Amino acid sequence: MEKLYCKRIFPYLALIRIPYLSFGGETAFSNVYLIIDKELVLIDAGPWRSSYFDILSSSLDQLGLSVGDISRIIYTHAHPDHMGGGIELNKHQEFSHSIYWEAQKQVEKYGHYATRVKSISKQIFFNHLSLYPAEKDIYSNVIDSFWRPTCGEIEIVHSLYDGEIVSTGKLKFEVVFTPGHSPWDISLWEEKTATLFSGDFLLRKSTTLTGGLKGFGSDLKAYESSLQKIGKYLAKAKCVFPSHGPSIMSCSNLADDLSRTIRWREHRILQGLSKKNQRTDLMNTLLSSNQGPLALVRQLGVTLTHLEKLEKEGRVLRSQDGEEIFYEIPQCKYQAN
Ligand SMILES: [Zn+2]
Repeated sequence: MEKLYCKRIFPYLALIRIPYLSFGGETAFSNVYLIIDKELVLIDAGPWRSSYFDILSSSLDQLGLSVGDISRIIYTHAHPDHMGGGIELNKHQEFSHSIYWEAQKQVEKYGHYATRVKSISKQIFFNHLSLYPAEKDIYSNVIDSFWRPTCGEIEIVHSLYDGEIVSTGKLKFEVVFTPGHSPWDISLWEEKTATLFSGDFLLRKSTTLTGGLKGFGSDLKAYESSLQKIGKYLAKAKCVFPSHGPSIMSCSNLADDLSRTIRWREHRILQGLSKKNQRTDLMNTLLSSNQGPLALVRQLGVTLTHLEKLEKEGRVLRSQDGEEIFYEIPQCKYQAN
């Protein structure tokens, strides 16, 4: 079994990190947070993997607890690296699964949802990989691994609403609807401890975005509204706990920093497209080809999300020629002589 990463951060909180994707020496982890209160609650379950139950139960064992003590799992959003573990746990005992109410409709039959999004994700990704046919297998593996499992069901017992308070005993978690990374993300704010659990909405250094997924992916406009909405919580937060990467201790400028990153990326994309002043191939202009598959998948997701926003705003035009997709900046047709 893999080496365990399990750490008691506060008396009321433990972090368990679960690996999910490994390619070219790079491994991605998901953070699972265990709230230790009158009730034992997981915030996100992490990804599916065959050793999942052993990893979780050994981690809880280290804390002097057991999986059987967990009563509820709250999912920050419906991505497989956050929900897959819930399917696996479900095989061993019944839990109360909670997710944002609009996501509930999509994920009740989780297998159907995962299969559908996997096929869209592959199709969109391959459309943009026409220049790299030889590498399709590698990227196919990344997408297949990410959207596994394609079977299994989760019955959402409790759907969550914006502003709802979920009590675990002494702690009270406010559900804050913060869409943008996915259509149905929530963050959880705990006033007494001044902590925010941000899922994939706020990460320490960057945003994680997955564009091009036909309504299932990221939406930059919604994301920017969520950044504004979360500002008042960040102003008083002592710590933000994201579902990937390290916790964030200095939080007050986080939303501003992420907004700046978004504006900088947008500027870079427009600059890249305008320099050549012609239909420009996405992969050549915006992405460097010498990256590992995980980084490339992430970077393509971010770039597509930006392009979708610019396209909606009429600032970028998209066209397709056979298998290839082109983007260009619309030119003013009627220039003064
Ligand atoms: Zn996600």
